[in-house]
Amino acid sequence: MDNKIGWNLENSYTKLPDTFYSTLNPTTVSSPKLVIFNEKLATSLGLNGEELKGTSGVEVFAGNNLPPASKPLAQAYAGHQFGHFTMLGDGRAILLGEQITPNNERIDIQLKGAGRTPYSRGGDGRASLGPMLREYIISEAMDALNIPTTRSLAVVTTGEDVYRETVLPGAILTRTAASHLRVGTFEYAAKWATDDELKQLADYAINRHYSEIVAKEDQYRLFLQEVIKRQAELIAKWQLVGFIHGVMNTDNMTISGETIDYGPCAFMDEYDPKTVFSSIDREGRYAYGNQPYIGAWNVSRLAEAILPLLHDDQEEAVNIAQEEIGKYKDLYLSYWHTGMKAKLGIINDEADDERLIEELLMLMQQHSADFTNTFRALTLDKIEGMALFETDAFKKWYERWKARIGRQEEPISASIALMKKSNPAVIPRNHLVEEALDAAVEDGDYAVMERLLHVLEKPFDYTLEKEKFTAPAPPEVSCNY
Ligand code: AMP
Ligand code: MG
Ligand code: MG
Repeated sequence: MDNKIGWNLENSYTKLPDTFYSTLNPTTVSSPKLVIFNEKLATSLGLNGEELKGTSGVEVFAGNNLPPASKPLAQAYAGHQFGHFTMLGDGRAILLGEQITPNNERIDIQLKGAGRTPYSRGGDGRASLGPMLREYIISEAMDALNIPTTRSLAVVTTGEDVYRETVLPGAILTRTAASHLRVGTFEYAAKWATDDELKQLADYAINRHYSEIVAKEDQYRLFLQEVIKRQAELIAKWQLVGFIHGVMNTDNMTISGETIDYGPCAFMDEYDPKTVFSSIDREGRYAYGNQPYIGAWNVSRLAEAILPLLHDDQEEAVNIAQEEIGKYKDLYLSYWHTGMKAKLGIINDEADDERLIEELLMLMQQHSADFTNTFRALTLDKIEGMALFETDAFKKWYERWKARIGRQEEPISASIALMKKSNPAVIPRNHLVEEALDAAVEDGDYAVMERLLHVLEKPFDYTLEKEKFTAPAPPEVSCNY
Protein backbone atom coordinates (compact mmCIF):
# COMPACT_ATOMS: atom_id res chain seq x y z
CA MET A 1 0.00 0.00 0.00
CA ASP A 2 1.51 3.34 -0.95
CA ASN A 3 1.25 6.11 1.56
CA LYS A 4 -0.27 9.17 -0.04
CA ILE A 5 -2.52 9.25 3.02
CA GLY A 6 0.26 10.30 5.37
CA TRP A 7 0.25 7.43 7.84
CA ASN A 8 3.10 7.82 10.29
CA LEU A 9 2.46 5.03 12.75
CA GLU A 10 4.56 3.84 15.65
CA ASN A 11 3.75 0.98 18.00
CA SER A 12 5.21 1.89 21.38
CA TYR A 13 2.56 -0.18 23.18
CA THR A 14 4.01 -3.38 21.69
CA LYS A 15 7.24 -2.70 23.60
CA LEU A 16 5.42 -3.25 26.89
CA PRO A 17 5.46 -6.80 28.32
CA ASP A 18 3.12 -8.96 26.26
CA THR A 19 0.84 -9.60 29.22
CA PHE A 20 -0.63 -6.15 28.48
CA TYR A 21 -2.00 -6.95 25.00
CA SER A 22 -2.71 -9.53 22.34
CA THR A 23 -1.60 -8.95 18.78
CA LEU A 24 -4.23 -9.74 16.18
CA ASN A 25 -5.72 -8.29 13.03
CA PRO A 26 -9.19 -6.83 12.76
CA THR A 27 -11.75 -9.23 11.28
CA THR A 28 -12.51 -8.22 7.70
CA VAL A 29 -16.00 -7.09 6.69
CA SER A 30 -17.91 -7.60 3.45
CA SER A 31 -18.77 -4.19 2.07
CA PRO A 32 -17.63 -1.16 4.03
CA LYS A 33 -18.99 2.27 3.27
CA LEU A 34 -17.81 5.56 4.76
CA VAL A 35 -20.77 7.40 6.25
CA ILE A 36 -19.15 10.17 8.28
CA PHE A 37 -15.63 11.52 8.22
CA ASN A 38 -13.81 14.18 10.23
CA GLU A 39 -11.69 16.06 7.74
CA LYS A 40 -10.38 18.63 10.24
CA LEU A 41 -9.25 15.96 12.65
CA ALA A 42 -7.58 14.07 9.80
CA THR A 43 -5.62 17.18 8.86
CA SER A 44 -4.48 17.77 12.43
CA LEU A 45 -3.23 14.19 12.49
CA GLY A 46 -1.18 14.81 9.35
CA LEU A 47 -3.52 12.66 7.26
CA ASN A 48 -4.76 13.56 3.81
CA GLY A 49 -8.55 13.74 3.98
CA GLU A 50 -9.15 13.45 0.25
CA GLU A 51 -7.07 10.27 0.06
CA LEU A 52 -8.60 8.82 3.23
CA LYS A 53 -12.09 9.14 1.78
CA GLY A 54 -11.02 6.96 -1.14
CA THR A 55 -11.11 3.18 -1.21
CA SER A 56 -7.78 2.54 0.47
CA GLY A 57 -8.68 4.78 3.43
CA VAL A 58 -12.09 3.20 3.85
CA GLU A 59 -10.54 -0.28 3.78
CA VAL A 60 -8.37 0.83 6.73
CA PHE A 61 -11.37 2.20 8.67
CA ALA A 62 -13.09 -1.13 8.05
CA GLY A 63 -10.17 -3.22 9.26
CA ASN A 64 -9.85 -4.87 5.82
CA ASN A 65 -6.45 -3.38 5.15
CA LEU A 66 -3.71 -2.24 7.52
CA PRO A 67 -1.96 1.11 7.22
CA PRO A 68 1.84 1.00 6.78
CA ALA A 69 3.77 0.00 9.92
CA SER A 70 0.62 -0.94 11.85
CA LYS A 71 0.99 -3.70 14.44
CA PRO A 72 -2.63 -4.19 15.48
CA LEU A 73 -3.43 -5.30 19.01
CA ALA A 74 -6.16 -5.55 21.62
CA GLN A 75 -5.30 -4.14 25.04
CA ALA A 76 -5.76 -6.08 28.25
CA TYR A 77 -7.41 -4.32 31.16
CA ALA A 78 -9.62 -4.96 34.13
CA GLY A 79 -11.94 -2.65 36.00
CA HIS A 80 -14.57 -2.08 38.61
CA GLN A 81 -17.97 -2.17 36.92
CA PHE A 82 -20.63 -0.67 39.19
CA GLY A 83 -18.25 -1.36 42.05
CA HIS A 84 -17.38 -4.96 41.14
CA PHE A 85 -13.92 -6.01 39.97
CA THR A 86 -13.87 -7.80 36.59
CA MET A 87 -11.37 -8.83 33.93
CA LEU A 88 -12.17 -6.94 30.73
CA GLY A 89 -9.93 -5.84 27.85
CA ASP A 90 -10.66 -4.64 24.32
CA GLY A 91 -13.45 -7.03 23.45
CA ARG A 92 -14.29 -5.29 20.23
CA ALA A 93 -11.60 -2.67 19.72
CA ILE A 94 -8.27 -2.93 17.96
CA LEU A 95 -5.43 -0.45 18.22
CA LEU A 96 -3.78 0.04 14.84
CA GLY A 97 -0.88 2.06 16.22
CA GLU A 98 0.06 5.57 17.27
CA GLN A 99 0.03 8.28 14.65
CA ILE A 100 2.88 10.75 15.11
CA THR A 101 1.31 14.05 14.12
CA PRO A 102 2.91 17.09 12.48
CA ASN A 103 3.05 18.62 16.00
CA ASN A 104 4.92 15.54 17.15
CA GLU A 105 2.05 14.29 19.27
CA ARG A 106 1.47 10.55 19.67
CA ILE A 107 -2.19 9.71 19.04
CA ASP A 108 -3.77 6.24 19.26
CA ILE A 109 -5.73 5.16 16.20
CA GLN A 110 -8.27 2.57 17.27
CA LEU A 111 -11.05 0.72 15.48
CA LYS A 112 -14.09 0.14 17.67
CA GLY A 113 -16.28 -2.71 16.49
CA ALA A 114 -13.48 -4.44 14.56
CA GLY A 115 -14.24 -8.04 15.49
CA ARG A 116 -13.67 -10.54 18.24
CA THR A 117 -10.50 -10.56 20.38
CA PRO A 118 -9.23 -12.80 23.18
CA TYR A 119 -11.08 -10.43 25.55
CA SER A 120 -14.50 -10.65 23.88
CA ARG A 121 -15.97 -13.08 26.40
CA GLY A 122 -19.50 -13.77 25.05
CA GLY A 123 -19.57 -10.71 22.78
CA ASP A 124 -19.53 -10.62 19.00
CA GLY A 125 -16.78 -7.99 18.79
CA ARG A 126 -19.02 -5.76 16.72
CA ALA A 127 -20.84 -2.47 17.12
CA SER A 128 -24.04 -1.18 15.61
CA LEU A 129 -24.38 2.04 13.68
CA GLY A 130 -26.53 4.09 16.09
CA PRO A 131 -24.16 3.97 19.08
CA MET A 132 -21.07 4.61 16.94
CA LEU A 133 -22.66 7.71 15.40
CA ARG A 134 -23.74 8.74 18.89
CA GLU A 135 -20.15 8.51 20.14
CA TYR A 136 -19.04 10.49 17.09
CA ILE A 137 -21.51 13.32 17.79
CA ILE A 138 -21.00 13.55 21.55
CA SER A 139 -17.21 13.21 21.52
CA GLU A 140 -16.88 15.92 18.87
CA ALA A 141 -19.30 18.14 20.81
CA MET A 142 -17.23 17.63 23.97
CA ASP A 143 -14.06 18.62 22.15
CA ALA A 144 -15.74 21.79 20.90
CA LEU A 145 -16.77 22.53 24.51
CA ASN A 146 -13.04 22.44 25.40
CA ILE A 147 -13.43 19.26 27.43
CA PRO A 148 -10.60 16.73 27.07
CA THR A 149 -11.92 13.74 25.16
CA THR A 150 -11.16 10.97 22.73
CA ARG A 151 -12.10 12.04 19.21
CA SER A 152 -13.89 10.46 16.29
CA LEU A 153 -12.22 10.28 12.89
CA ALA A 154 -14.70 8.22 10.89
CA VAL A 155 -17.59 5.80 10.94
CA VAL A 156 -18.02 3.10 8.31
CA THR A 157 -20.92 0.75 7.95
CA THR A 158 -19.77 -2.82 7.45
CA GLY A 159 -22.52 -4.18 5.23
CA GLU A 160 -23.10 -6.84 7.88
CA ASP A 161 -25.85 -7.22 10.46
CA VAL A 162 -25.31 -7.25 14.20
CA TYR A 163 -27.75 -8.97 16.49
CA ARG A 164 -28.87 -7.16 19.63
CA GLU A 165 -32.51 -7.10 20.73
CA THR A 166 -33.17 -6.56 17.05
CA VAL A 167 -31.10 -6.87 13.88
CA LEU A 168 -29.06 -3.69 13.40
CA PRO A 169 -26.64 -2.41 10.78
CA GLY A 170 -23.01 -3.03 11.78
CA ALA A 171 -20.50 -0.18 11.95
CA ILE A 172 -16.94 0.61 13.00
CA LEU A 173 -15.83 3.85 14.64
CA THR A 174 -12.26 5.04 14.20
CA ARG A 175 -11.43 6.61 17.54
CA THR A 176 -8.37 8.68 18.37
CA ALA A 177 -7.01 9.25 21.87
CA ALA A 178 -3.97 10.58 23.69
CA SER A 179 -3.81 6.93 24.75
CA HIS A 180 -6.20 4.21 25.81
CA LEU A 181 -4.52 3.67 29.18
CA ARG A 182 -7.21 3.36 31.82
CA VAL A 183 -7.34 3.13 35.59
CA GLY A 184 -8.40 -0.43 34.75
CA THR A 185 -5.13 -1.06 32.90
CA PHE A 186 -3.34 -0.53 36.21
CA GLU A 187 -5.84 -2.67 38.06
CA TYR A 188 -5.10 -5.41 35.56
CA ALA A 189 -1.37 -5.01 36.16
CA ALA A 190 -1.77 -5.06 39.93
CA LYS A 191 -3.77 -8.26 39.79
CA TRP A 192 -2.06 -10.28 37.05
CA ALA A 193 1.34 -8.78 36.30
CA THR A 194 4.57 -8.67 38.31
CA ASP A 195 5.64 -5.56 40.20
CA ASP A 196 8.28 -5.03 37.55
CA GLU A 197 5.67 -5.16 34.79
CA LEU A 198 3.49 -2.75 36.78
CA LYS A 199 6.47 -0.42 36.98
CA GLN A 200 7.02 -0.67 33.23
CA LEU A 201 3.38 0.28 32.67
CA ALA A 202 3.67 3.26 35.01
CA ASP A 203 6.88 4.38 33.31
CA TYR A 204 5.14 4.11 29.97
CA ALA A 205 2.21 6.24 31.19
CA ILE A 206 4.52 8.82 32.72
CA ASN A 207 6.57 9.06 29.55
CA ARG A 208 3.52 9.43 27.42
CA HIS A 209 1.38 11.80 29.50
CA TYR A 210 3.46 13.31 32.28
CA SER A 211 6.89 13.72 30.75
CA GLU A 212 7.65 16.63 33.12
CA ILE A 213 7.99 14.19 36.02
CA VAL A 214 10.13 11.55 34.27
CA ALA A 215 12.95 10.34 36.52
CA LYS A 216 12.00 12.60 39.43
CA GLU A 217 12.77 10.99 42.74
CA ASP A 218 9.14 10.44 43.79
CA GLN A 219 7.81 10.11 40.26
CA TYR A 220 5.14 7.50 41.02
CA ARG A 221 3.67 9.62 43.76
CA LEU A 222 3.75 12.61 41.41
CA PHE A 223 2.12 10.45 38.74
CA LEU A 224 -0.77 9.69 41.09
CA GLN A 225 -0.98 13.37 42.03
CA GLU A 226 -1.16 14.42 38.38
CA VAL A 227 -3.80 11.85 37.40
CA ILE A 228 -5.88 12.95 40.39
CA LYS A 229 -5.55 16.56 39.29
CA ARG A 230 -6.59 15.83 35.71
CA GLN A 231 -9.54 13.71 36.77
CA ALA A 232 -10.72 16.37 39.23
CA GLU A 233 -10.47 19.00 36.51
CA LEU A 234 -12.19 16.79 33.93
CA ILE A 235 -15.14 15.97 36.15
CA ALA A 236 -15.52 19.63 37.15
CA LYS A 237 -15.75 20.43 33.45
CA TRP A 238 -18.45 17.78 33.00
CA GLN A 239 -20.45 19.22 35.89
CA LEU A 240 -20.16 22.74 34.53
CA VAL A 241 -21.89 21.81 31.25
CA GLY A 242 -24.28 19.23 32.73
CA PHE A 243 -22.62 16.23 31.09
CA ILE A 244 -23.50 12.84 32.53
CA HIS A 245 -21.08 10.09 31.53
CA GLY A 246 -23.37 7.28 32.56
CA VAL A 247 -20.83 4.47 33.06
CA MET A 248 -17.97 5.76 35.18
CA ASN A 249 -16.50 2.31 35.70
CA THR A 250 -12.74 2.34 36.32
CA ASP A 251 -12.14 0.84 32.86
CA ASN A 252 -13.78 3.93 31.41
CA MET A 253 -11.49 6.42 33.20
CA THR A 254 -8.35 7.38 31.33
CA ILE A 255 -4.91 8.04 32.73
CA SER A 256 -4.54 10.97 30.31
CA GLY A 257 -7.59 12.77 31.72
CA GLU A 258 -9.62 12.46 28.54
CA THR A 259 -13.30 11.52 28.56
CA ILE A 260 -13.68 8.05 27.07
CA ASP A 261 -16.35 5.53 26.15
CA TYR A 262 -19.55 7.27 25.22
CA GLY A 263 -22.29 4.80 26.01
CA PRO A 264 -25.49 5.87 27.74
CA CYS A 265 -24.22 9.40 28.30
CA ALA A 266 -26.22 12.58 27.86
CA PHE A 267 -26.47 16.23 28.77
CA MET A 268 -28.86 17.07 31.56
CA ASP A 269 -31.86 19.18 30.63
CA GLU A 270 -33.64 20.16 33.86
CA TYR A 271 -31.21 20.73 36.67
CA ASP A 272 -31.46 17.90 39.16
CA PRO A 273 -28.39 16.28 40.76
CA LYS A 274 -30.21 12.94 40.78
CA THR A 275 -30.42 12.80 36.99
CA VAL A 276 -29.44 9.41 35.52
CA PHE A 277 -29.71 8.39 31.88
CA SER A 278 -28.37 4.86 31.84
CA SER A 279 -31.12 2.29 32.14
CA ILE A 280 -28.70 -0.19 33.73
CA ASP A 281 -27.78 2.27 36.50
CA ARG A 282 -30.78 1.44 38.66
CA GLU A 283 -29.33 2.78 41.88
CA GLY A 284 -28.08 6.02 40.46
CA ARG A 285 -24.43 5.28 41.20
CA TYR A 286 -23.44 7.40 38.22
CA ALA A 287 -26.05 10.15 38.61
CA TYR A 288 -24.98 13.69 37.77
CA GLY A 289 -24.54 14.74 41.39
CA ASN A 290 -22.52 11.60 42.18
CA GLN A 291 -19.91 12.01 39.46
CA PRO A 292 -17.45 14.02 41.57
CA TYR A 293 -17.56 11.37 44.34
CA ILE A 294 -17.13 8.54 41.86
CA GLY A 295 -14.10 10.37 40.49
CA ALA A 296 -12.53 10.11 43.95
CA TRP A 297 -13.51 6.46 44.22
CA ASN A 298 -11.95 5.70 40.83
CA VAL A 299 -8.62 7.42 41.51
CA SER A 300 -8.51 5.50 44.80
CA ARG A 301 -8.54 2.30 42.75
CA LEU A 302 -5.56 3.65 40.79
CA ALA A 303 -3.73 4.47 44.02
CA GLU A 304 -4.40 0.96 45.31
CA ALA A 305 -3.11 -0.58 42.10
CA ILE A 306 0.21 1.27 42.23
CA LEU A 307 0.84 0.82 45.98
CA PRO A 308 3.95 -1.33 45.29
CA LEU A 309 5.48 1.63 43.45
CA LEU A 310 4.74 4.25 46.09
CA HIS A 311 6.98 2.88 48.81
CA ASP A 312 8.87 -0.31 49.70
CA ASP A 313 7.07 -0.31 53.03
CA GLN A 314 3.43 -0.94 52.14
CA GLU A 315 2.11 0.77 55.27
CA GLU A 316 4.00 3.88 54.23
CA ALA A 317 2.64 3.43 50.68
CA VAL A 318 -0.92 3.45 52.01
CA ASN A 319 -0.21 6.70 53.88
CA ILE A 320 1.13 8.30 50.72
CA ALA A 321 -1.87 7.11 48.70
CA GLN A 322 -4.30 8.45 51.29
CA GLU A 323 -2.56 11.77 51.45
CA GLU A 324 -2.80 12.22 47.68
CA ILE A 325 -6.39 11.00 47.43
CA GLY A 326 -7.23 13.41 50.24
CA LYS A 327 -6.35 16.29 47.91
CA TYR A 328 -8.93 15.34 45.31
CA LYS A 329 -11.90 16.98 47.01
CA ASP A 330 -10.37 20.44 47.36
CA LEU A 331 -8.93 20.26 43.87
CA TYR A 332 -12.30 19.34 42.45
CA LEU A 333 -14.10 22.07 44.41
CA SER A 334 -11.63 24.69 43.36
CA TYR A 335 -11.98 23.81 39.64
CA TRP A 336 -15.74 23.71 40.01
CA HIS A 337 -15.96 26.95 41.98
CA THR A 338 -13.76 28.82 39.51
CA GLY A 339 -15.87 27.45 36.67
CA MET A 340 -19.18 28.39 38.31
CA LYS A 341 -17.95 31.91 38.96
CA ALA A 342 -17.03 32.23 35.30
CA LYS A 343 -20.52 31.01 34.34
CA LEU A 344 -21.90 33.92 36.37
CA GLY A 345 -19.41 36.49 35.10
CA ILE A 346 -17.75 36.86 38.50
CA ILE A 347 -14.14 37.93 38.15
CA ASN A 348 -12.90 38.87 41.64
CA ASP A 349 -13.54 37.18 45.00
CA GLU A 350 -16.18 37.88 47.60
CA ALA A 351 -17.00 35.87 50.70
CA ASP A 352 -20.62 35.33 49.66
CA ASP A 353 -19.95 33.99 46.17
CA GLU A 354 -20.39 30.39 47.15
CA ARG A 355 -23.82 31.16 48.61
CA LEU A 356 -24.86 33.05 45.51
CA ILE A 357 -23.97 30.02 43.39
CA GLU A 358 -25.63 27.49 45.70
CA GLU A 359 -28.83 29.52 45.91
CA LEU A 360 -29.17 29.74 42.16
CA LEU A 361 -28.71 25.97 41.83
CA MET A 362 -31.26 25.39 44.56
CA LEU A 363 -33.81 27.57 42.80
CA MET A 364 -33.07 25.92 39.47
CA GLN A 365 -33.72 22.53 41.03
CA GLN A 366 -36.91 23.69 42.78
CA HIS A 367 -38.34 25.04 39.54
CA SER A 368 -36.99 22.36 37.19
CA ALA A 369 -35.05 24.93 35.22
CA ASP A 370 -33.17 23.84 32.12
CA PHE A 371 -29.48 23.85 33.08
CA THR A 372 -27.98 25.15 29.84
CA ASN A 373 -30.74 27.61 29.07
CA THR A 374 -30.68 29.21 32.52
CA PHE A 375 -27.06 30.21 32.10
CA ARG A 376 -27.66 31.10 28.47
CA ALA A 377 -30.50 33.44 29.50
CA LEU A 378 -28.31 35.06 32.15
CA THR A 379 -25.54 35.50 29.59
CA LEU A 380 -27.90 37.17 27.12
CA ASP A 381 -29.71 38.92 29.97
CA LYS A 382 -32.93 37.69 28.38
CA ILE A 383 -34.73 36.58 31.50
CA GLU A 384 -37.90 35.21 29.98
CA GLY A 385 -39.71 32.05 29.01
CA MET A 386 -38.91 29.94 32.08
CA ALA A 387 -41.03 29.36 35.18
CA LEU A 388 -37.98 30.00 37.36
CA PHE A 389 -37.71 33.59 36.16
CA GLU A 390 -41.25 34.43 37.29
CA THR A 391 -40.60 33.59 40.93
CA ASP A 392 -39.94 36.25 43.58
CA ALA A 393 -37.09 34.20 44.97
CA PHE A 394 -35.33 34.27 41.61
CA LYS A 395 -36.03 37.98 41.13
CA LYS A 396 -34.34 38.67 44.46
CA TRP A 397 -31.44 36.44 43.52
CA TYR A 398 -31.17 38.20 40.18
CA GLU A 399 -30.91 41.65 41.83
CA ARG A 400 -28.17 40.37 44.14
CA TRP A 401 -26.29 38.86 41.22
CA LYS A 402 -26.56 42.07 39.19
CA ALA A 403 -25.26 44.04 42.16
CA ARG A 404 -22.49 41.49 42.62
CA ILE A 405 -21.10 41.76 39.08
CA GLY A 406 -21.50 45.51 39.37
CA ARG A 407 -18.99 45.51 42.25
CA GLN A 408 -15.96 44.67 40.13
CA GLU A 409 -13.25 46.83 38.69
CA GLU A 410 -13.93 45.33 35.28
CA PRO A 411 -16.88 46.65 33.28
CA ILE A 412 -20.02 44.53 32.79
CA SER A 413 -18.85 43.83 29.26
CA ALA A 414 -15.96 41.82 30.71
CA SER A 415 -18.41 39.73 32.71
CA ILE A 416 -20.54 39.11 29.65
CA ALA A 417 -17.48 38.11 27.62
CA LEU A 418 -16.46 35.66 30.35
CA MET A 419 -19.99 34.23 30.48
CA LYS A 420 -20.08 33.78 26.71
CA LYS A 421 -16.89 31.74 26.92
CA SER A 422 -18.19 29.67 29.83
CA ASN A 423 -21.85 29.01 29.01
CA PRO A 424 -22.48 27.07 25.83
CA ALA A 425 -25.35 28.44 23.74
CA VAL A 426 -25.95 24.90 22.47
CA ILE A 427 -25.28 21.39 23.68
CA PRO A 428 -26.11 18.09 21.98
CA ARG A 429 -29.70 17.93 23.19
CA ASN A 430 -30.89 14.36 23.51
CA HIS A 431 -33.84 14.72 21.19
CA LEU A 432 -31.69 16.40 18.53
CA VAL A 433 -29.12 13.62 18.72
CA GLU A 434 -31.89 11.01 18.46
CA GLU A 435 -33.43 12.82 15.50
CA ALA A 436 -30.06 12.84 13.72
CA LEU A 437 -29.48 9.16 14.48
CA ASP A 438 -32.97 8.17 13.34
CA ALA A 439 -32.51 9.90 10.00
CA ALA A 440 -29.11 8.27 9.52
CA VAL A 441 -29.91 4.76 10.71
CA GLU A 442 -33.50 4.44 9.44
CA ASP A 443 -33.30 6.42 6.20
CA GLY A 444 -29.59 6.64 5.39
CA ASP A 445 -29.99 10.41 5.56
CA TYR A 446 -26.89 11.98 7.09
CA ALA A 447 -27.84 15.60 6.37
CA VAL A 448 -29.55 16.02 9.76
CA MET A 449 -26.46 14.78 11.57
CA GLU A 450 -24.13 16.94 9.47
CA ARG A 451 -26.22 19.99 10.32
CA LEU A 452 -26.18 19.18 14.01
CA LEU A 453 -22.41 18.56 13.96
CA HIS A 454 -21.96 21.91 12.26
CA VAL A 455 -23.89 23.73 14.99
CA LEU A 456 -22.11 21.85 17.77
CA GLU A 457 -18.73 22.77 16.35
CA LYS A 458 -19.05 26.31 17.78
CA PRO A 459 -21.06 25.96 20.97
CA PHE A 460 -19.98 29.32 22.39
CA ASP A 461 -20.98 31.21 19.30
CA TYR A 462 -24.15 33.09 20.31
CA THR A 463 -25.85 33.46 16.96
CA LEU A 464 -29.51 33.40 16.02
CA GLU A 465 -28.99 30.43 13.73
CA LYS A 466 -28.57 28.38 16.88
CA GLU A 467 -31.83 29.42 18.54
CA LYS A 468 -33.75 26.50 17.12
CA PHE A 469 -31.23 24.07 18.56
CA THR A 470 -31.68 25.29 22.13
CA ALA A 471 -35.15 24.02 23.07
CA PRO A 472 -35.13 21.41 25.83
CA ALA A 473 -36.11 17.84 25.07
CA PRO A 474 -39.73 16.83 25.42
CA PRO A 475 -39.92 14.83 28.68
CA GLU A 476 -40.80 11.50 27.04
CA VAL A 477 -37.57 11.36 25.03
CA SER A 478 -35.15 8.76 26.36
CA CYS A 479 -31.64 8.38 25.07
CA ASN A 480 -30.68 4.78 25.44
CA TYR A 481 -29.93 4.41 21.81
P1 AMP B 1 -18.14 -0.86 28.04
O1 AMP B 1 -19.41 -1.10 28.78
O2 AMP B 1 -18.36 -0.29 26.67
O3 AMP B 1 -17.13 -0.08 28.80
O4 AMP B 1 -17.53 -2.30 27.75
C1 AMP B 1 -17.21 -3.19 28.77
C2 AMP B 1 -16.48 -4.38 28.22
O5 AMP B 1 -17.28 -5.13 27.33
C3 AMP B 1 -15.22 -4.04 27.45
O6 AMP B 1 -14.26 -5.02 27.76
C4 AMP B 1 -15.66 -4.13 26.02
O7 AMP B 1 -14.59 -4.39 25.15
C5 AMP B 1 -16.62 -5.31 26.09
N1 AMP B 1 -17.61 -5.30 25.00
C6 AMP B 1 -18.61 -4.42 24.81
N2 AMP B 1 -19.32 -4.75 23.71
C7 AMP B 1 -18.76 -5.86 23.19
C8 AMP B 1 -19.04 -6.69 22.06
N3 AMP B 1 -20.06 -6.45 21.22
N4 AMP B 1 -18.24 -7.76 21.85
C9 AMP B 1 -17.22 -8.03 22.68
N5 AMP B 1 -16.92 -7.31 23.74
C10 AMP B 1 -17.67 -6.23 24.02
MG1 MG C 1 -15.41 0.66 28.22
MG1 MG D 1 -18.58 1.16 25.54
